[in-house]
Amino acid sequence: MQELLERKKGLRRKVLIVDDEFIEREMLGAMLSDLYDIVYAGNGREALDIIDKDKFTLSLVLLDLHMPEVDGYSVLEAMRSGSELRRIPVIVLTSEKDAEIKSLQLGAADFITKPYDMPDVVRARVQHSIELAENSVIIHETERDELTGLFNKEFFFEYGKRLDIQNDNMPMDALVIDINRFHIVNELYGHEYGDIVLKKIGDRIHDLVKYHGGLACRFDSNGFYVYIPHGHDLNKIISDGLDKINASLTDSNITIRMGVYEDEGCGLNMEQRFDRARLACNKLRHSYSTCFDFYNEELHSKELHKERLISDMERALIEKQFKVYYQPKYNIKGDKPLLSSAEALIRWFHPEFGMVSPGEFIPLFEDNGLIQKLDRFVWTEAAAQIKRWKDEFGIYIPVSVNVSRVDIFNPMLGSILSDLIKINGFAPEKLLLEITESAYTDNSQEIIDTVKGLRKNGFKIEMDDFGSGYSSLNMLTSLPIDALKLDMKFIRNITEDTKASRLVGIMIDIARLLEVPVIAEGVETKEQMELLKSIGCDIIQGYYFSKPLPPEEFKKLIV
Ligand code: C2E
Ligand code: CA
Ligand code: CA
Repeated sequence: MQELLERKKGLRRKVLIVDDEFIEREMLGAMLSDLYDIVYAGNGREALDIIDKDKFTLSLVLLDLHMPEVDGYSVLEAMRSGSELRRIPVIVLTSEKDAEIKSLQLGAADFITKPYDMPDVVRARVQHSIELAENSVIIHETERDELTGLFNKEFFFEYGKRLDIQNDNMPMDALVIDINRFHIVNELYGHEYGDIVLKKIGDRIHDLVKYHGGLACRFDSNGFYVYIPHGHDLNKIISDGLDKINASLTDSNITIRMGVYEDEGCGLNMEQRFDRARLACNKLRHSYSTCFDFYNEELHSKELHKERLISDMERALIEKQFKVYYQPKYNIKGDKPLLSSAEALIRWFHPEFGMVSPGEFIPLFEDNGLIQKLDRFVWTEAAAQIKRWKDEFGIYIPVSVNVSRVDIFNPMLGSILSDLIKINGFAPEKLLLEITESAYTDNSQEIIDTVKGLRKNGFKIEMDDFGSGYSSLNMLTSLPIDALKLDMKFIRNITEDTKASRLVGIMIDIARLLEVPVIAEGVETKEQMELLKSIGCDIIQGYYFSKPLPPEEFKKLIV
C-alpha cells in the first residue's frame, strides 16, 4: 500500500474541466495547469465521452452545473450510477448557494463558487478531493474481498467491533453461511464457475445488508459472515435470503447452509456470537434437508462436552481410564452353541462423566485422527489378552478388534499388527480384524490394497455392519474378506417382520456365494437366535449370550 502511495505521489494527475463558458474554463485551467494535465469539455455530452474514454486515468472532474442540453446534474448522475466512474471525484462549479446541497446529494465531493477570485482555495480544494478519493480507493482495495466486494474478515471484525462500541452494544444477530461441498463444485465445474457462484451469493448478501443494515464479509473460500441489527423478523430475512440465493443458483445443484445466533441480550461479544452461529452451521454439515438452524444453549453444551472428551483423551490413556471389554461370539452350527471368539470393545471410565459410550467418543476421535492411538491401545491389550488366556487355559480364544477407517491410511498398519502377534507368539488368524462396510464403499481402492496386504500376512478380515454401506454385489465378489457381520439393525425385528427376515436370508445367501461365514450381532432373544439358526447363520453375538464383559468375568465363559 505504501508503495502505491509513493508511486501516486510522483504522478501528474489528469483533471477534466467542464464548462460551456470559454473564459471560465481557461481561467480555471490557468490556475491548475502547472500542477495537473488539463483536458477541457465545452458541454455535458462531450464531458461524458471524455470521462468514459479516460475513466482509468482521470483523477478529478470540475463540473459546471448550468450548460445547455446535457447539464452538470445529468453528468453527475451518470457518473454516480456507473461503478467504474463512481471512483472519480467531482467538484461542482457554481454561483448559486442552493445548488450546493443538491450537488452534494448527487455525490459531488466538493464545490467551488464562481467567480474564482481565490486561486489558492481552488488549488487546495482540488488537491484535497483527489487525495481523499485516492486514499479511499486504496482502503477499499485492502479491506474488501476482490471477488465479491464484501469486507474481508479482518476488516469485518474491526468494523463490527467499532459498530458495537459506537452503538453501545446494540443487539446484533450473527449469520454464518457456507456452501455445501464447495470443493466438489470447483472440481466438477472448474474454478471459474465456482467464482460465479461466490459472486452471486455475495450479491445477495450485499442486498441483504443494504436493506437491513449491518455488514458482511467473505470469511473463507466457501463461507460468508453477516452481522445485522437484531429486531428484524429473522425467520423471514433468512427464508427470503435463502430463497433469493437459491433462485440465483438454479442452474446447479449447489445448496447452502446457514447457522444463526440470535441476540437475546446475553452480552456476548461479536466473536462469541459468530462462534455460536458457526456451531449451528456446522451441525448442518451432514444434513441435506434443513438448510438453516438457530444456535441454542443445548447445542453449545454438547459441543463443549465433545471438546472436553477430545482434550481429555491423551491423559485418560496414561491414567488407564480406558478398559477393553470382550463380548463372546458363539458358533451355533451344532447342537450346542460353542464359544468361538470374542470382540474387543473399548470402554471409557471418565473420572467426571462416568462411563462414556464408544458411540459417543469414537466418531469424535475419527474426525481428528486420535482414534489411531486408541485403536493401537485396544489392539495391544487384545493381543496380550489372547496370550494370557492361552497361558491360563491352554486354548486360543481368537479376538476380533475394530480397525477404524482412519487406520487404513496408516502405512505402518501391517507392521504394527504383525509386531503384536510376534511379541505375543501366536498366528495372525487369532487376531481378527473388523472393518466397517462403509469404509470399503468410501475409498474402495485404498482399502482393497490394504486389506490384500493384511491377508497376505495371514490376517483374517470381517466386514462389519454389512448391509449399511451400499456395497454392490459386483463389488462384493471382488472384495478380499473372510466373514460378513450383519448390521444390527437388520436383526432387531426379524421375528416380527417377515420382510426383515427375508432380507437377512438374502444376506446369508450372499455370504454363501462368497463362501464366507455369517455373523449376526445384536441378537437379544432366543427367538431371534433360533430364527437365525434356521436360516443358516453361523455365528451369533449379542446380549442373548452375553454383554461385553471385563476380562476377569469373560474368563468364566471359557471354562
Ligand atoms: P460395533 O463394532 O458394531 O460393535 C457392536 C456394538 O453393539 C457394541 O456397542 C456392542 O456393545 C453392541 N451390542 C452387542 N450386542 C448387542 C445387543 O444384543 N443389543 C444391542 N442393542 N447392542 C449390542 P459399543 O461397545 O457401544 O460400541 C459401539 C461402536 O463403537 C462399535 O460398533 C464400534 O463401531 C465402535 N467401537 C467400539 N470399540 C471400538 C474400538 O476399540 N475401536 C474402534 N475403532 N471402534 C470401536
Ligand atoms: Ca465391530
Ligand atoms: Ca457392527
